[in-house]
Formats: sequence, C-alpha cells, structure tokens
Amino acid sequence: MQKKMVLMEAKSFLAKHGLKEGNLVEAVFQGETFLGTIVPSKENGMLFLKLKSGYNVGLEEKKIFMIKKISEGQKVAKPGTIEIKQNPSLPKILILHTGGTIASRVNYETGGVFASFSPSDLLAMFPELMQKANFETKLIANIESENMRFVHYAKIAEEIKKTLGSKPMGIIIPHGTDTMAYTAAALAFMIQSPQIPILLVGAQRSSDRGSSDAAMNLSCAVDFITKTNFCGIGICMHENENDSACVILPPTKTRKMHSSRRDAFKAINAKPIARIEYKTGKIEFLEQNYLKKGHELQTVFKTKMEEKTGLLKSTPALIPEQITFFAKQKFQGLVLEGTGLGNLPILSRTGIEKINAQNFKALQSLIKKGCIVVMTTQCIYGRVDMNVYSAGRELLKIGVLEGKDMLPETALVKLAWLLGNYKDKEKIRELMQKNLRGEINERMPINNTVEAQ
Ligand code: ASP
Repeated sequence: MQKKMVLMEAKSFLAKHGLKEGNLVEAVFQGETFLGTIVPSKENGMLFLKLKSGYNVGLEEKKIFMIKKISEGQKVAKPGTIEIKQNPSLPKILILHTGGTIASRVNYETGGVFASFSPSDLLAMFPELMQKANFETKLIANIESENMRFVHYAKIAEEIKKTLGSKPMGIIIPHGTDTMAYTAAALAFMIQSPQIPILLVGAQRSSDRGSSDAAMNLSCAVDFITKTNFCGIGICMHENENDSACVILPPTKTRKMHSSRRDAFKAINAKPIARIEYKTGKIEFLEQNYLKKGHELQTVFKTKMEEKTGLLKSTPALIPEQITFFAKQKFQGLVLEGTGLGNLPILSRTGIEKINAQNFKALQSLIKKGCIVVMTTQCIYGRVDMNVYSAGRELLKIGVLEGKDMLPETALVKLAWLLGNYKDKEKIRELMQKNLRGEINERMPINNTVEAQ
C-alpha cells in the first residue's frame, strides 16, 4: 500500500511536468542548472538525473525551481543476450557477482541500474571474454559495497567453499569499489591457502560509459587466472589512467586512494603482485613471494567475524566519551588510527589540555574490561613505533598493541576475524601482531616506505 503511494507520488512529479524516465531534462535546483537523463527513482520525493559525466545526482523535487524537457532521450535497453557456446578446450571460470558499478548499466526503459549476472547478460556486455574461458555465474548479492557488512564476507566465502567442488580454474568476484579492499582482506583471512586464484574486480565507471574500466579489468583478471600459476586472493584494477595495464594487488595491503579515478587502488607499503598488459595479455610478476598452484597446503575456511569491533580516528578534538562508547557498547576489539608513529591525545602538558588525561583513563578502563586495542597510523605509509614519543609509550604500558604497518582497515578486519574465530584473548593478541596473510611487513625496506606505483 505504502509502496504504491510512493510510486504514485514519484510518478506525479514527472506527470505534472509532462516528463518520463529516460527524458533528457534541464533542471534548476538551488541556483544550479543540471542537464541529465531522468533515471528511475525508488526514493519518495527525489528526482535522479544521470549527468553527462556519468554520475547520478538526486534532487529534492519540491526544491526544483524549474524543469524542462530537452529531448525524449535515448533508450538504453537491456543488452541482447547471446548464445553461449561452451568451448571444451577453454578453462572454466566462476563469476560470483556481488554488485556495484562493475556489471551494471542504466536501463532507462525498465528501471534503474541493473546488474548483469546471468552468463548471457554478462557475456553480451563483454563478449570478448568468451574467447578466453567458459563462464559460470552466480549472484550472491546485488548490493553497493558501502552497504556490505561482515556477514556478506562470510556469505561470499561460504559460496566459494561450495563451488570449489566444480573445479573452476579461478573465481572472479565483481564487487563495488568502495569497500572492495575490506572484502579482499576478509577473504584473505577467511580462506587460508586457497588452491585457485580468487580475484575481486571492480569498476569506477559503469559499463554504459565510454570510459568504463569494467571490460578491461575483467579481461585482465581472466588473463591472469588462465595464464599464471598464482593462487590466492587478489584485487584486479587499472594500473594507471590509460587503458594500458591492470595490476593484481595484495588483499591485505591495498586501499582505494581516489574517489573517482580508474587507478584508484594502490598497494600500500607493498608492491602490486603482478601487471597484466591489456592489449597483449603479457603478464609480469612484480612480487615473487606468492602462493603457487599445486601447493600442498591444506585450504582452511574460518568465516566468522565479531561485529563488535571498531575503528576510532585520533583527532585534536578527541573526547573521553568517544572511547567510553566502546566500553558501554561492549566492544571486543578496537583499532585506533593514531597520529604519526602511533599517538593519541592522552597527555596534559600545559594544563589547557586537561581533557587528554581523561582520554587516557577511558582507554585504560576499556582495556581492563577485556577489549583488545590495536594502534595503527593515519599516515597510511610507514609503520607505528610507539617507543618514540611519551604518548605511545604510555599507551604501550596500558596494553595497547602495535599494529606495525597494517592498514587501519586491514587491522579492523583482522581483529574482527580473530575475535570471531579464536576464544583465547592471549592468542588473539599474539596473532594480531603476527603476519598471517602478508598484512605486516616484519621489516620495512631501507627507505622505510614502498610507495604506491
Ligand atoms: N559505491 C559503489 C560501490 O562501492 C561504487 C562502485 O560500485 O564502484 O558499490
């Protein structure tokens, strides 16, 4: 009933102005003029326009000062399906779709951005892939990655476990880019010593845009799976702004470093694992220390994660209530994103920053309650060394653990994973500081950083 009303209201704005989805319109909203195509909206009272830049903008209908149709617009229909011929000489790749921009495009006729996940839809969008492998696809979710939670990681890992029986040569997980690095880290911890390559592939621009990176990222992932002896988890994305190459990035040492560039993903304090030239398919390994197909290690799945694990960024405005929150909510683990070498405002030096001492007490009490607290750095590059400054030393004394050169996001995922799968707190503390999946460089190179490419 409510749904029906929402739909009617949404329709009535368009009807009132003689417009329909797919029309190219000009709208004046809060003094700004927007030119874009009306895309279907599920949100009551909002008009969504797809701009020429490819981005969508949401305008509150009642604040639209003027709207006029520029043209009927272009209809973008669902891509035609094509007949899939399985070629027995080609290897099998499994696609476990999770959502995001990668396999989506706007269908102005039937509504919204739709995800292509059936083999025929996907291959109709990227037919060149069929020359390289046979595909089986499965939809795990169709969700923007900003809406993913730990529970989705477990779902993906369980699905991987189930599908291994069909012996694919590798798995591709199309994924939204926003939190793709978190998922990669989670899968790396959840699946110990996989026997095949499992690559997360995203796109910064949807497939209906000329500048989309979807096809190239997928194609490079397929080449990498079919032509190399790599096994394990990786992220496959553009190396630079050109369409020349993709890189395979390490799952626990990668970060989305740009909100919109196609080469947003960078390895931090690490090198990319490999580089795939798009045109030639030539592959160069930049890292030799990786798990190789045919290894004899046993694959172990541990897929639980503790939800009550948090991440707190140090700022000059940090107040004790921000810390006591975690105690009140019974958090089991907390990653701190400290300043510099791993500091937090906890000391009162001149008297006007007395509140800092309360931050210290709040943290001490949180740790006494059993919460495991780990320090990382908001510098991104480099590692924490808490023995250098007084704040760091005081924090070490009360039991804060050094996260070494772990990325804050990776430390969060790792801590949640350890808390989910191990009972003994001492063991968790020990493992948190030990390199399990390449998340910690025990020793940094001489120049103390490995810059992103
Ligand atoms: N916000 C989107 C997501 O992470 C962006 C993308 O799909 O790449 O799902």
